[in-house]
Amino acid sequence: CRIFINSVYNETAINVAADMRASIPAFRSNRSNLEKHILKTLAEEENFENYREYIHNPKQYFTKFIMNQADKYLNNEKNKIQTIFRGNLENKKLKINNAVFVATDKVINEKGNADMWMECFSKFLIEDLKFTEISNVDSMEITDFDFLSKIVTVGLTKMVKNQKGADIKLEMLQKRSDEILTDHLCQCCWAQCPFCKAVCIGTMKDHDGEEHCVPFHWADGIIGWHYRGTKNLSCDFCTTAVQSNKGFFPSSESEKSVPFKQYRTAGGEYATWNITPDCSELPYWKWFLCRFQKDLENLYGKKFQGSGKIPNEWKKYTKEDALESLNNYI
Ligand SMILES: [Zn+2]
Ligand SMILES: [Zn+2]
Repeated sequence: CRIFINSVYNETAINVAADMRASIPAFRSNRSNLEKHILKTLAEEENFENYREYIHNPKQYFTKFIMNQADKYLNNEKNKIQTIFRGNLENKKLKINNAVFVATDKVINEKGNADMWMECFSKFLIEDLKFTEISNVDSMEITDFDFLSKIVTVGLTKMVKNQKGADIKLEMLQKRSDEILTDHLCQCCWAQCPFCKAVCIGTMKDHDGEEHCVPFHWADGIIGWHYRGTKNLSCDFCTTAVQSNKGFFPSSESEKSVPFKQYRTAGGEYATWNITPDCSELPYWKWFLCRFQKDLENLYGKKFQGSGKIPNEWKKYTKEDALESLNNYI
């Protein structure tokens, strides 16, 4: 009985997760699209703490975002979910009734015993239910197969009736559909650019042999890069830095700087990234830097000044410009 209900819940969770993917815009296509919606929401909320979590703990933030969206859906679409659940319940009942009928028919025709009945019955349903528990009944004792089939059918009908009257238990669905969604949307590469922490867009967890890459890098001061020996934060986009004549110290212990143009020679994670020298600087991050300049300066105990002064033209970007530039995400 419990197995039966669990399997109905599982099936419903799969249906519900599929419906969420179709009806929640953030879940509609790939992770790049999800990222776009996250950045949009972050800008709308203008909450620095949320940004901080997103930048420094992307996986945790992504998962939280998915859960929140799923929660909203589950609460708003109760009726729809109830309908899906009832449909699945009804279907499952029909399948089991059919299995009872086939098993009984076979046993009567072939003059078999209860073991044969159980074997046939289980085989018929094995795809749908892990119906092994029912075989705990001392089946050898049962000889009246019509009676047995009646018991199963009557029991099921009663149970389906009870379930129909009761409210679907959302929390049973929630866990399962969250798992399905996070499996789908978070089973990918989580490597972060060593200069800006932007997350690789690789769709495979480990893409050995292929370098990490991301279409839009951020300005490095966002994660605290600064000019050595000064209190000056830096505000270079990785894609611009790698075409400059500047250099960087791969770690705080490094004594020699490495030219940005040869960043791969720094080894380690630097050697695993493909950062293309281009002009993909997204206005979104320029707006972010200006809007949260003070928060970033407080966070890292340094300032955007001297060589790291934020260019004046970045200040002209409004939140609307920032949001609009997200349309570059595919
Ligand atoms: Zn980067
Ligand atoms: Zn990657």
